[in-house]
Parts: sequence; structure tokens; C-alpha cells
Amino acid sequence: MRAFAFHQRVLSLGLTACLGAGWGALAWAVPATPGPAKQQPPSSAVSVNPECQALVRRLPNVTLAQCQQAGLVASAARSVQGRRILLTDVLPADTAAPFRVLVLGGMHGDEPSSSSVALHWLFLARHSAFELPQPVHWRFIPALNPDGLLMAQPRRTNANGVDLNRNFPTPEWLQDAPRYWAQRTGKDPRRWPGKEPLSEPESRYLHEQMQEFKPHLIVSLHAPYGVLDFDGPITPPSRLGRLYLDQVGIYPGSLGHYAGVHKAMPVVTVELASAKTTPREAEMRQMWVDLLRWMSERLLAATPSGR
Ligand SMILES: [Zn+2]
Repeated sequence: MRAFAFHQRVLSLGLTACLGAGWGALAWAVPATPGPAKQQPPSSAVSVNPECQALVRRLPNVTLAQCQQAGLVASAARSVQGRRILLTDVLPADTAAPFRVLVLGGMHGDEPSSSSVALHWLFLARHSAFELPQPVHWRFIPALNPDGLLMAQPRRTNANGVDLNRNFPTPEWLQDAPRYWAQRTGKDPRRWPGKEPLSEPESRYLHEQMQEFKPHLIVSLHAPYGVLDFDGPITPPSRLGRLYLDQVGIYPGSLGHYAGVHKAMPVVTVELASAKTTPREAEMRQMWVDLLRWMSERLLAATPSGR
């Protein structure tokens, strides 16, 4: 407990010092480095991203400057309609054997607040002088479903009408996912799991990320149910900010079921209270601090990194 108290104190002091300057006042001077951890960052401090103009028209509480300073880079993956799936990494000073965390936003295109919170957390990951028991390599994919987000009418599914969060290869998918969709959702078009698991480029990309990046933890942002869900073999966080744990069960083809239950890769699912607006700045900070505190207590001291 002594060690935890120390970390908590450093954490809050670092955040206070950093955030006093405000988000917009700081240049995001640490550029993104896609791919392997040892890759050198590009020379320019701020990469201008052509996708940002389209993104910020849809994202609440994110300015064009903030998006451009996020250092998002294009992965090799493209959506059904050919949009680039963007990511960025935040590397620790010691990159030898970091704990790897994947943060996802925008898996559902009609939940733009989830992408915004991912970008706000990215800023905190870059600029907060927090101290954790183990170095952490963060990877952010803030808009996994860019087609759904950027359509004239934003929608949950991707351009093929597939709910990406039902398209992961859970055991018995071919039998369970279509049956669940037909019998339990009444063939809700917003929850169509697709014709087969990993039928979609966006879910395939995330699946590849799980195999290549090998995250020790996935944090997946959604909205608007206002709760925290968790799948995995460890003690879940009891709350993040005002969101309290309420484990709702598992669905055929969901990320939590696939990664958390089937692959034993812990998945924190954050259901924000609103799909259209972000929480206040102080609340987003508190959620971030609570996430780091839980990681410090439950994961970082206990998990051998580099596996
Ligand atoms: Zn969602």
C-alpha cells in the first residue's frame, strides 16, 4: 500500500502540473511512431493529417489543431470504403520490455464521443508526468470504423452493415452469432454479425493488432450506457470516474468475449454516458487516473512484460 500511495501522489501531482497549461496550450511535441517500438520518430514535431479535417467535423470537443497534433499516422489497413485506419504510439523512455496497452475508440461509428475521449487520453499519455511501476507502451486507434463515423448519417455498423463488435472469432461463432442475432435481437440491422468471423477489414485489422502488438490490456471505448464492463482473468476496475463496473455478460463475436474470455487478454469496455458529447475535462482526467491506478495495483506489478 505504501508503494501505491507514492505512485498515486506522483500521479496526481504530475497531472495537475501538466494540465494547468490546458490541452490547447501545449504542442504535442512527441511524434508518433507506428510499428515496432525501436523505430525512430520522424523529424517533424507535428504531423499534419489530412484525415483530421473530416474527423473533427464529427468529433465533439476536438479541434483541428488538437487532431493534427495527435500525431496519427496511417496503418496499412483500409476500411471497406478505402479510408485509412489511423493509429499512434506513445512509447516509454525505457522500451526494453514495456507493458503494452491498446486503446480503441470509434468501433461503432455513431459513438463519436468514444473517439474524442481516446484522443484526450492520448494527450494525457503523452504529457502527464505520471509514474507507473513498469514502463507502458500505449497504442491508440481512435477511429476503428471510419466509414461508420464519416457517413452522411453516422452509423454503428461498418459500410457493409456489419457490427464489428460481433465479428470476432469466438468459439462456435458460425452457430452462435447468427442465432443470437436472429433470436435475441430480432435481426436488428445494427447488430448484424456478418457472414463469417473476421469478414470485415476493420475487424481483421484489430485482430492483426492483437497478434502483432500483443497487448497485455485492451481498453475499448463505447457509448452511451454509462457503465464499465470487463472481460478477463483478473480483478476488474470497480470504477473509472463516474462509471461503475456492471458486467453485462458476453455476446457471440464481441471483442470482450473473444479477447477477454477466449484469449485471456483483459478487456476494459468503457461505456460513456453520451455518444454525442464527451465528459467534462476533469471527468476524463479522473477516468484516466483511475485507469492508471487500477493498472498499477492489478497489472503492472504482477504481469511479466514482453510475453
Ligand atoms: Zn459501441
